[in-house]
Amino acid sequence: MNSAPASAEAEARVNLLDLDREGMEAFFVRIGEKPFRASQLLQWIHQRGVTDFSLMTNLSKALRSRLEAVSEIRPPELVLEQRSADGTRKWVLQVDAVNRVETVLIPDEGRNTLCVSSQVGCSLECSFCSTARQGFNRNLTTAEIIGQLWVAQHRLGEEQRISNVVLMGMGEPLLNFGNVVAATRLMMDDFTYGLSKRRVTLSTSGIVPALDRLAEVSDISLAVSLHAPDDELRNELVPINRKYPIKELLAACKRYVGTENRRKVTFEYVMLDGVNDAPEHARALVRLLSHVPSKVNLIPFNPFPNSAYRCSRPETIASFAHILQDAGLITTTRKTRGGDIDAACGQLVGKVNDRSRRQFRLHTAH
Ligand code: SAH
Repeated sequence: MNSAPASAEAEARVNLLDLDREGMEAFFVRIGEKPFRASQLLQWIHQRGVTDFSLMTNLSKALRSRLEAVSEIRPPELVLEQRSADGTRKWVLQVDAVNRVETVLIPDEGRNTLCVSSQVGCSLECSFCSTARQGFNRNLTTAEIIGQLWVAQHRLGEEQRISNVVLMGMGEPLLNFGNVVAATRLMMDDFTYGLSKRRVTLSTSGIVPALDRLAEVSDISLAVSLHAPDDELRNELVPINRKYPIKELLAACKRYVGTENRRKVTFEYVMLDGVNDAPEHARALVRLLSHVPSKVNLIPFNPFPNSAYRCSRPETIASFAHILQDAGLITTTRKTRGGDIDAACGQLVGKVNDRSRRQFRLHTAH
């Protein structure tokens, strides 16, 4: 078939959405151009949302056709857009022939927070999360991560700017380290979205060695999915705890915030009826966090089909919060948003062609 060479060539084209500033500068040097072109391209792509080189009028015609030949700007394909009665918006993005991920915009009190996915599915199997049920396919590329912000901002238009990003969508961001770090750098570049480190938050279930690596290369804000005040219960809810138990995780959190005592780690705690919501759990949490600069975010559990849990009662959540607050811990309770379009925490499922289970079956067949 003579279409093969053409598609092979297209494959080889660099997707410029994959490149942060450093990558973009290296790309221009590689094609014999000056590195300052990176700023121009970043601005065209991310601030103006332009994907067509012919519109980039501050570049020479020769450079535009050169770029056309060797590169492309290819955001993930938008396949579905939904709007909740409360203003939350969800975009479903096709990232390849078989996989889809979701990204959610939560407008609240003048802020527009975008909740971004980092993997297709998740490999961690937390017992209360529906993404876990989907299994795992692969890491998202940098283009697919920053592409969520690109698409969302594009859909919002000039009027509204995304002001905050949380890496709290599908996947475990610290298991996709390089691409996540590059994407967060792109979010904070002055020639792109210009978000400050306080407005970009990575949420992790606690991959301790990766957290230490993150501290070396980044200073974005940190949220940790704690969910239990002791190892026995956390092993059950967040199985990665068996590998990186609470004590090691909290030590890594302290190293992450370091001596900058203005910074705090946000600990997420999902409220599960009769499981982790008793006053003893709250008191144990106070003791546990007494030596870590912390804030606590209580998350009412969002149910999904066949989940084994129920959400704690509102009065239980309120008294849990009181115990923490009385002990001096800054505590907030997350408002459940976008439930009518399955856009709430733990409800993002996309479409995942699960490879983990298949591999598991192959493995056990031997
Ligand atoms: N893997 C990362 C990023 C996902 S963040 C992490 O674990 O932090 C998604 C947040 O929503 C996490 O705090 C997660 O524990 C929480 N969550 C998952 N399922 C939920 C559910 N059904 N109801 C409420 N919160 C949930």
